[in-house]
Amino acid sequence: MLLRLLGLAMLAAELGDLMRKILIAATVLLSATTALADPALEQNFDASVSPAEMGAWMKFLTHEPSNVGSPFNKTIAEWTLAKFRGFGWDAHIERYQVLYPTPLSESVELLGGKPFHATLNEPWTKETPQPKDKWLPAYVAYQGDGDVTAPLVYVNYGVKEDYEALARMGISVKGKIVIARYGQGWRGLKPRLAQEHGAIGCLIFSDPRDDGYSVDAVYPKGPARPPGGFQRGSVQDITLSSGDPLTPGFVAGPGKPRLTRETAPNILKIPTLPISYADAKVFLASLSGQVVPPNWRGGLPITYRAGPSAARIHLMVKSEWSLKTVYDVIAKIEGSTYPEQWVIRGNHHDGWVFGATDPQAGHIALLAEAKAIGALVKSGWRPKRTILYASWDGEEPGLLGSTEWAEDHADELKAKTVLYINSDTNARGFFDAVGSQDFSHFVGSVAADVTDPETRASVDARRRAKLRLAPLDAATADKEDAKRIAQAAADPAATVPIEALGTGSDYTGFLQHLGIPALDLTYSGEANWAGVYHSIYDSYDHHSRFIDPGFVYDALLAKTAGRMVLRAADSDLPLQQPESFAASIAQYVKQVAKLANDKRETAKIQAGLLADQVYALTADPTKTSAPPTALAQVPVIDFAPLDTAAAKLSAAAKTYDEALAKNGAALSAERRAKLLALMLTIDQTLTNEAGLPGRPWYKHMIYAPGRQTGYGVKTLPGVREALEEERWDEARLYIGITAKALEAYAARLDAAAAVLTGP
Ligand SMILES: [Zn+2]
Repeated sequence: MLLRLLGLAMLAAELGDLMRKILIAATVLLSATTALADPALEQNFDASVSPAEMGAWMKFLTHEPSNVGSPFNKTIAEWTLAKFRGFGWDAHIERYQVLYPTPLSESVELLGGKPFHATLNEPWTKETPQPKDKWLPAYVAYQGDGDVTAPLVYVNYGVKEDYEALARMGISVKGKIVIARYGQGWRGLKPRLAQEHGAIGCLIFSDPRDDGYSVDAVYPKGPARPPGGFQRGSVQDITLSSGDPLTPGFVAGPGKPRLTRETAPNILKIPTLPISYADAKVFLASLSGQVVPPNWRGGLPITYRAGPSAARIHLMVKSEWSLKTVYDVIAKIEGSTYPEQWVIRGNHHDGWVFGATDPQAGHIALLAEAKAIGALVKSGWRPKRTILYASWDGEEPGLLGSTEWAEDHADELKAKTVLYINSDTNARGFFDAVGSQDFSHFVGSVAADVTDPETRASVDARRRAKLRLAPLDAATADKEDAKRIAQAAADPAATVPIEALGTGSDYTGFLQHLGIPALDLTYSGEANWAGVYHSIYDSYDHHSRFIDPGFVYDALLAKTAGRMVLRAADSDLPLQQPESFAASIAQYVKQVAKLANDKRETAKIQAGLLADQVYALTADPTKTSAPPTALAQVPVIDFAPLDTAAAKLSAAAKTYDEALAKNGAALSAERRAKLLALMLTIDQTLTNEAGLPGRPWYKHMIYAPGRQTGYGVKTLPGVREALEEERWDEARLYIGITAKALEAYAARLDAAAAVLTGP
């Protein structure tokens, strides 16, 4: 890699500016590479990773359901503990008592002239490892039990815009049961918004247009969702907090205070169930009323109408709400030089049913890495930093195991953790790492040294190639940002900025609550597992035939994550190189300022349309159609504090990166210790103890899941969401708070640069 870049630099000799840029990048790579990569060590590591063995592990780990509270869930924890110990690790299990409801009985029926009962269980196929009915039925965890009867209304994806459209169509969901399709927004948002709009029950179905027969042949013939399949999941409101819903912000331990099911803010109040598209077809066909807008229509052979239905629907869910035990398996290898600095790697081990692609694809990678690192230790190698491997429990219901562990060990983790590296699902395709953006360079340097088995190019080259296509993609939201990233991707000497993280897996407690830098790794994009996600069909058979034949990409994940762990553990220099982080921040600051301007302009235009009766004049008089609610007028908002902070960050990042490249390798031991201490906790300067508005558990001021969108990230969330939701004073307040966080990061960088350049 290095030689190739230097050759490139010589060819570019007459190009002046470009050459200087490439040489700087090559120097950065040189120092980083000497500090980070040990090719012989990594070859030895790779030699221990066996796809065949990983496949055998997956076969065992997926032969029974592994959800929280199931007997096999505990077996997996004990089996994983024995594996870690066999690999030579110092390992133990940490247990937490968490609220986890188990379904007892449930029913969805169409009453009236043509009565119909929803199946609520998935048809067994001969590829399914267990006899019928040994798994959880149709279920979403932390819905509100209930027994309700009411007419049905179709709400499309059940997101905010859909309720606005319904209101304009003159349809209210108050006192009704709603039916929403999966997709667009996070699962838990659908029943929450239904509840907020006065609905008394919620059904969620998988439309074949999104992940069924419109997409591919259905299982077992192909990978897509069969008619009887449905998606389980959690509807716990993790945009408020993750972990045990009764102990937000505290460990779920004996004798600790707990909320009750009734007072826990992230447990829903209305009964909710997922149903298959075979069943949804019957319920949707019962709807009368207006034909829905074109973008509300799915792939079922019916006319999609909004409702309400003439016949009533009966929905009943009853669960058992006792505390259950989750089992985190924690394994450790003590560092030789910096034992008080930790590199943590994790993946969960609980599934909704058999959980092959989710989570065992990532879990067997984690195990393969643990075996390979164990073998290196047995051959005499010791990591400089302490390495912790964690096999989490209870991820599926609400990141329970990882969040409780992060809350339990918060002070120690904040003092010691260099980086948390997560994975979860995995499939054939492209490498992606998402997370703390000051680690973009670190991610790229590892990806450049991993070879894609299909193309023999590096996984970095494939990743860069894919990013270059994004600006031309009609679906790309921010073209300017996509162009910026594509430009970096096209320049082999430039760092590709990684994307930011919201929530949806076990990094959340570390990143969002504690401010510890985190990365989430995955291969994906060439295999379709959406159709079996959280169903009984996510099995060994499905994974080995359609998702990763030969376990090649699961092994590749092990090699990628393993290299990150080894390099993070052995680096004598900090891993952050924040220039591309600073560039991303500058872009986000531009985005929020543009958001305010766009909203101001739209509100002005809409006020004119309302005054001139434009909506009334363009409405079809035979249909109910109300004008939209008037948008709030946007006052003048001063973004200068954010602009100033972004500029300071940018300057500090440039100075630091250059100083690290120039002086990092030759630093005295004393200065190196000072530098490492400053950079160890620098990412925590981006947090604010009071947290985000209405959700104090979320302390990161740069990254958070969208309160109204779910898993997906909102960057500069305090500012962005206040603008989106028209809380102008709060926007002003969080402009100040966010700017302060960025300035604290920049000040820490300046201090670190002074250590690098000082006399
Ligand atoms: Zn998962």
